[in-house]
Amino acid sequence: MENQFEKILSRIPDVRLITHYPASALTSFRIGGEIAYVLYPGTEKALCGAVKSLREAGMEYRIVGRGSNILARDEPFSGAWIVTKDCCKLHFHDHRAEAECGVSLDSLLESCAERGLGGLENLRGIPGSVGGAVSMNAGAFGTQFSDILTAVRAYDIQADKVVCLSYEECGFGYRQSIFQSGRYAVLQVALRCAVTRTDLVRSRMDRVATLRGASQPMDLPSAGSVFRRPAGNYAGKLISEAGLSGVSIGGAQVSEKHAGFIVNRGGATAADVRALIELIRKTVYEKSGILLEPELLME
Ligand SMILES: Cc1cc2nc3c(=O)[nH]c(=O)nc-3n(C[C@H](O)[C@H](O)[C@H](O)COP(=O)(O)OP(=O)(O)OC[C@H]3O[C@@H](n4cnc5c(N)ncnc54)[C@H](O)[C@@H]3O)c2cc1C
Repeated sequence: MENQFEKILSRIPDVRLITHYPASALTSFRIGGEIAYVLYPGTEKALCGAVKSLREAGMEYRIVGRGSNILARDEPFSGAWIVTKDCCKLHFHDHRAEAECGVSLDSLLESCAERGLGGLENLRGIPGSVGGAVSMNAGAFGTQFSDILTAVRAYDIQADKVVCLSYEECGFGYRQSIFQSGRYAVLQVALRCAVTRTDLVRSRMDRVATLRGASQPMDLPSAGSVFRRPAGNYAGKLISEAGLSGVSIGGAQVSEKHAGFIVNRGGATAADVRALIELIRKTVYEKSGILLEPELLME
């Protein structure tokens, strides 16, 4: 059976296939067991073809950008990960940008800065892809990715066709979008940037980078903030007030620098992270009456 799948997958045009690859090498947490098939489509068409072939073969799959908001399981996964990083075309037409799903946020921001285009400076340092940023509606310091987005081209997996969704159709909210339903693969986004000056864009980005460096544990593997922000409060503040800063289970530790982050101090497993998340939720609930909801996607 394994060889039969391998044959089907290796025949999809413009897709690079790697077998038996560790999820830990594909996620910012550096955690996760072996993935049977890792597919790297090189074009949008190949991405659609990969999804279609996997569905037809009845194989479980995930679409993954930079793996910076995912806790992969420790156990081997017999399905496939479709990793989008080779779908990375980026075009500008005046102040409008079109970015494929695999473009990294930092390279998008850098290209915008070169052209004196602003709007996303506050997202500096988020280590995700455009596809992941749309799906999660990534945000920081009062800006959300959706703020300058005008449309998304996506593969409608159920209907097997490429569709163009307007901003209104994307269902954006706080760390929320229609793309979390699993119905679509994001192919490309259209952005309308603010026309400004390169030096201003760069100085805003530098300020954000400094703020992140000062307040977040950027030197250790993590998946960013583990919990959604509770109404009128901050997860990190509640966790810290509950006395949990620095608490560890196995290799997973509540960051001493930012209690909203769990860091991998070395050798952490998904089971360690899950146990720590449960401990945090229980303790914070007992101390504050607030039940924290994970923002991290756990398999
Ligand atoms: C140090 C650090 C700091 C962070 N800071 C922030 C922050 O300030 N704000 C913030 O919002 N997040 C932050 N994050 C979390 C994370 O970087 C963002 O959520 C990011 O947008 C995820 O992008 P990704 O490409 O890594 O997505 P992944 O983690 O690979 O995937 C996330 C979700 O998006 C889906 N997805 C990815 N690509 C596609 C696609 N093409 N089509 C359909 N679905 C897709 C996946 O299936 C999955 O459901 C941080 C993470 C780290 C490690």
